[in-house]
Amino acid sequence: MSCLFCQIINKEIPTDIIYEDDEFVVFKDIKPKAPVHFLIVPRKHIISINHLKFQDKELIGKLFLIAQKIAKKQKVAKKGYKLIFNVGKGGGQVIDHLHLHLLAGWRTNEERDVHGMP
Ligand code: AMP
Ligand code: ZN
Repeated sequence: MSCLFCQIINKEIPTDIIYEDDEFVVFKDIKPKAPVHFLIVPRKHIISINHLKFQDKELIGKLFLIAQKIAKKQKVAKKGYKLIFNVGKGGGQVIDHLHLHLLAGWRTNEERDVHGMP
């Protein structure tokens, strides 16, 4: 049986997909860890960063450009965001299909100050 993210990519499991092209699928994380939380997933089943091969260098470069594109589209690019790869069980990786977390939407310290909030 194929992995969960391969099933999502193949539309065997419904998910909130916000972007897709020939090489990548981007969808909302089912248990968001931030106000904005997307997963950027190559269609190619690569287990983790540890399993990247030299020939994946173009794919991994494009992955970051997709992240940039999504951040702009979702209007979080200017304010800022985090990009995270969990690698292996010790790194918190649960799904063994390489994916980049894009997290955003927190209030900045400046915004807290403006509203006099802690
Ligand atoms: P990681 O811990 O880096 O492997 O991240 C896996 C992420 O996949 C977690 O943040 C989960 O909340 C998310 N996730 C698991 N199942 C689904 C699903 N069916 N649809 C969307 N996101 C999912
Ligand atoms: Zn997979």
